[in-house]
Amino acid sequence: HVYTNDEVHALVKEENVRFLRVTFSDLFGTMKSVDLPISQLDKLLANKVMFDGSSIDGFVRIEESDMYLYPDMSTWLVFPWGAEHGKVAQVICSVHLTDGTPFAGDPRNNLKRVIKEMNDAGFSAFNIGPEPEFFLFETDENGNTTTKVNDQENYFDLEPADKGEDCRRDIVLALESMGYNVEAAHHEVAPGQHEVDFKYSDALEAADNIQIFKLVVKTIAKKYGFHATFMPKPLAGINGNGMHMNMSLFKEEGGKVVNSFYDEQDKVQLSQTAYQFLAGVMDHARSVTAVCNPIVNSYKRLVPGYEAPVYVAWSASNRSPMVRIPSERGMGTRLELRSVDPSANPYLAIAAILAAGLDGLKRGLKPADSVDENIYAMTEAERQAKGIHDLPDTLHNALKSLAQDDVIKAALGDHLYRSFNGAKSLEYEGYRQSVSKWEQDKYMSEY
Ligand code: GLN
Ligand code: MG
Ligand code: MG
Ligand code: MG
Repeated sequence: HVYTNDEVHALVKEENVRFLRVTFSDLFGTMKSVDLPISQLDKLLANKVMFDGSSIDGFVRIEESDMYLYPDMSTWLVFPWGAEHGKVAQVICSVHLTDGTPFAGDPRNNLKRVIKEMNDAGFSAFNIGPEPEFFLFETDENGNTTTKVNDQENYFDLEPADKGEDCRRDIVLALESMGYNVEAAHHEVAPGQHEVDFKYSDALEAADNIQIFKLVVKTIAKKYGFHATFMPKPLAGINGNGMHMNMSLFKEEGGKVVNSFYDEQDKVQLSQTAYQFLAGVMDHARSVTAVCNPIVNSYKRLVPGYEAPVYVAWSASNRSPMVRIPSERGMGTRLELRSVDPSANPYLAIAAILAAGLDGLKRGLKPADSVDENIYAMTEAERQAKGIHDLPDTLHNALKSLAQDDVIKAALGDHLYRSFNGAKSLEYEGYRQSVSKWEQDKYMSEY
């Protein structure tokens, strides 16, 4: 629903909103915000709020650093906390240049552009149901994070009067009061690890939801004395944080919205569209990984033994491969991409995945056979015989694949690709030159 100016003014009164948090996301998916007192509401609604883009990561334009924030009034929401000093409302904006054109370095603008390509290919929505995972770590007396978790629980465990459980429940309540449709929230496999799943929505809204979700989780965790982290692999030796993405393409047919991945006639009731989309995602898997697993630490999660994928394969029965086809059919028919982690910028990640799938449709690709046995028990030769490739093992190798993939580069657009590749290459170089505790422990006395 796009709020009209009158509706917004009425809501501001009704809820005693005193501050406006006007946000957008940078290259890394960090949410940036300008706080405005409510007196500036009309200026915001008139697209007149300005900021200096030259100090935002990935935005740098020396010749033109004045940028405008155009509010997307379908994203208006009021945070459920802070009522004593007047509430804070948030609206997500798109970044525009002084001449009014959308700025190509804004990841959200870029996702809209790729969605338009999908619309031109005949689809009405790319639905994304994310499954973000996170850890709750105890903080010390200075409020800094430790690596201590407060429970020793496991998947779906329930412990009465547990602070982590209470915190998670509060997160769900806050999300619901903000209009989220939370489908499930549970303890994950690792101690201190949680997952909250919300109902699918169209690509742009899903990416917005992920951004706000992270903010809500971190805010509420803090109230409980926790530090919430979406870092992909915070601790060695236990599971990391994934953000599985459930996805499907919808289209309008005879006045009805239908799921294009569903085909009643097929032996497993998947459509040609679903197979081709899947084939596109598999074909571009290595370069998509650079975008969906964009930090050095992401690759410490993509290792055998921790329920995260390591190989490019799909299955309907097996939970370990990169793509799983959950058993639900009809409108719920979907692919679940299990490689994505929550350090990804959701706008870029969804754009890359969508472009990969659409390329599969355009080229009429066929996926390799599904792999229903345990890939981890196969030898390298057995994997090769079945055409099972590895996912990249480092950010460096993922970036190399991306550099060779014109489809995924085009999905980011020239401006974003260049800033992404530049920033990520530097990040990897910084890591490569650092000497870790592991190396010192292992080599210092031995050599
Ligand atoms: N935490 C696992 C990962 O890294 C996923 C565990 C699960 O959801 N079954 O992807
Ligand atoms: Mg899950
Ligand atoms: Mg999970
Ligand atoms: Mg899952």
